[in-house]
This record gives sequence, structure tokens and C-alpha cells, in this order.
Amino acid sequence: MPRTDKVCFDRILPSDLARPISGRMFAISSGPARAAFQIAKLWPNGTTIHVRFLGGTSSQQRQVKQFSIEWTEHANLRFEFSNSPSAQVRIAFEDDGAWSYVGTDSLGIPSNQPTMNFGWVDQGVVLHEFGHMLGMIHEHQNPASNPIQWNKPVVNAALGGPPNNWDQATIDHNMYAKYDVSQLNGSNFDRDSVMLYSFPANWTLNGFQSDPNETLSPVDKEFARRVYPGRDTGSTATTTELTVYEGATQAAIGTAGEEDLYSFTVKSPGRYVIETEGPTDLVMSLYGPTGNLIAQDDDSGIDRNPRIGANLSEGKYTVQVRHYNESNGTGNYGIKVSKA
Ligand SMILES: [Zn+2]
Repeated sequence: MPRTDKVCFDRILPSDLARPISGRMFAISSGPARAAFQIAKLWPNGTTIHVRFLGGTSSQQRQVKQFSIEWTEHANLRFEFSNSPSAQVRIAFEDDGAWSYVGTDSLGIPSNQPTMNFGWVDQGVVLHEFGHMLGMIHEHQNPASNPIQWNKPVVNAALGGPPNNWDQATIDHNMYAKYDVSQLNGSNFDRDSVMLYSFPANWTLNGFQSDPNETLSPVDKEFARRVYPGRDTGSTATTTELTVYEGATQAAIGTAGEEDLYSFTVKSPGRYVIETEGPTDLVMSLYGPTGNLIAQDDDSGIDRNPRIGANLSEGKYTVQVRHYNESNGTGNYGIKVSKA
């Protein structure tokens, strides 16, 4: 029987509630079938994500570790489970349904609060919530070739009652809202995705129903490899080392959706400025030594170039650069780091 009493909901930031679901999706221009990630919320490729448990039995914790690790066979990320006070992901086991913040939204949550919750634990829900944590959206909100025709009165009644008791805004956000198709190239709905809800045929007008997907689908795996590349070869993505004070390093966004990574080492604490130059409209993110997001910028520099100024302590920092227009933007740029 489809598991209709246990549905995951997106935990979204208050800032996201104020605007409609945006179209900032990871777009891939070839291939027939794609799941969907929110590009703006992806972790830097190669990140070690530290995970801390806030409670739970040893059996629950063991299952989470055991099942979640499958993602890292495909995505070029590592999960490190520890009691680190700076863990970016914190997992609770409260009777509060199953949910997770999406991607790097977890970084904005106070460090004493969970970023993920398991009201129940099994393989399917662990892979699903970790999928959100990696930046994946619900597959039923993928706009491309989506075959689902919701029977809204039935769905509203089911989710508006126990045990979910969702209000209409929550139902609208989690069920009917779709991401922007214009940002997706040739993406198709994947009915085998671990990110698809299970629901019975009477929730739709066209007889579409979905059984629980307890494992990663081939498309889930392929997409994880594409969004976080490098696992296939056993190497991490190329990261270019920048030297503070050196002139600008020249680079290019050569293909749409490309993400360029840089690192630099702060040897003496102080205020540092990271900026790009040139005609290309870029977005830049700065991550700290533990993978924590420090700042993101779009247009603070000259000619719509991103520019980030931040007080940094000693350590190694990562800079991620991508085009503002992920679906078809390309172009040359230079990047440099200086100490103010
Ligand atoms: Zn979910």
C-alpha cells in the first residue's frame, strides 16, 4: 500500500516563503532524463559535510549512517558523523514528521537546532531527506514532462487532516507549486526517483499513482554524479589555488551551468576582498574552512561583478563562481583576492 500517512515536507527559510519558488535550477543540456536540484543551494563540490545527531537511539543513528552513505558513492561529497559543534547538518528524531532544509539552507539555521528530522527511519526516508540536504527538490514539483494531474479536493482533504494537518498554504507549497520550466533543458520527470512522494491513484485525476521508492533511481545516481562530479574518477573537482595580492587569474565559464572553484589560504587574520572582473555576469560564494557559507554576492563589484569583503581568520577558504544565468550564460572573467 502506498504510504500516504507519512509525507515529507520541505523546510523552507522564512526568506523563501516571501517569494514564489524560483527558477534557479541546475540545468543540463543533454540526456533524456533528469532529476532536479536547486543550483543556488548546492554545496561546493568536494565538501566534507559534518553531521551531528541530536538524540536518537544507537539503532536509529546507525541506520541513518548506513543508508545515507549511498549518496556519497555517486556525489563527490563526504559525510562525517561526529559531535562537532560546527556540524553543518544536525539530525533530530522528534515526532515531527520527516523533513530537511534544502542544500546549503542548513547553514543559516542556529547551531543548536536541527536541520533535518526523522519521525521514522527506513532506507527510503533516509535517502530522501539526504537528497534534500544535497539540494534536491521533490520530484512531483519537477515541471518537465510531469504526468501528475492532482485531484486537489482529495489531496487537500488527505493532507489537511491528521497526521499532517497542513494548512492550505503548506499544501500549495509542497504539492502544487512547480519550479520554473524555462530554466530546465530537456528534463523529464523520473517516476522512480527517491524524491517522489508515494500516493494512491485517487489523489490524481488521471490514475497516476506512485509506490514508495526506497532506493536511488538510475537518474538520481546520474544526477548526483553530474551535480557533484569527480566521484567516478576517484578525484575531486579541479580547484585552482589563488594567491593573495597576486594579479587576477583569468578564467571562463565555458559551458552553461559550469561552476568554477578556487581556494586561497589566509595566513594572517584580517579583512580580505575577493572579486571578479570582466564583462561576465557572475555570482560568487565564499565558504570557510569547514564548508560553512560565509557570504554570497551577485553585483557588489564593478560592472555587475560580484565582490565579497569579509573578516577572515587563518585557514583555507573556497570560492565558487558561476554565471548568473545558469541555463545559457558563458563568458570570460578574472578573479583575485587581496587583503584590505
Ligand atoms: Zn521531501
